[in-house]
Amino acid sequence: MLFTPTVVKNLLKKPATRNYPFVVREPFPNFRGELVIDIDKCIFCGMCSRKCPSQCITVDKEKGTWSCDLHACISCGYCRDHCPTKCLTMKDTHRKPLTERTVWVEQGTPPKPKKKKAPAEKKDDE
Ligand code: SF4
Ligand code: SF4
Repeated sequence: MLFTPTVVKNLLKKPATRNYPFVVREPFPNFRGELVIDIDKCIFCGMCSRKCPSQCITVDKEKGTWSCDLHACISCGYCRDHCPTKCLTMKDTHRKPLTERTVWVEQGTPPKPKKKKAPAEKKDDE
C-alpha cells in the first residue's frame, strides 16, 4: 500500500529510456564513433599500427593492405590523431553491433619501391 502512489505514477509517466534501436539518440559533437579510412590517401607508413593501444591495426606495405580487428578497437582515436596523411577519420555514430569476430580489410595501392642510388664513381687520382 505504501508504494501504490509511486507505482501508479510510474505507470502513467513516459519511460525514462529510449526504445533503442528504433529510437537513436542524437550524436554528441566530436564523438569518437566508427573509424573510417580513405585508403587512397594511405601511404602505408604503419604509424596508426604503432600508436594503437589495442594493437588491432595491421599494415602491409608490400601488399598495400590496411586491416583492423573491429572487436579489439576501443575507439580511442589515437590512430586518427597520428596519421600523417589524415586519411583516418571517425564518424559521430557507432558501428552497428557485430555477431562474430570481424577483421576489416582495405586494399590500397602499395607504394612503389624507391630506386637505389648508384654508388658514386671513384676519382681517377685516388
Ligand atoms: S598512419 Fe595513416 S597513412 Fe600511415 S598506414 Fe596508418 S592510415 Fe595509412
Ligand atoms: S581507434 Fe584506437 S583502438 Fe581503434 S584502431 Fe584506432 S588506435 Fe586502435
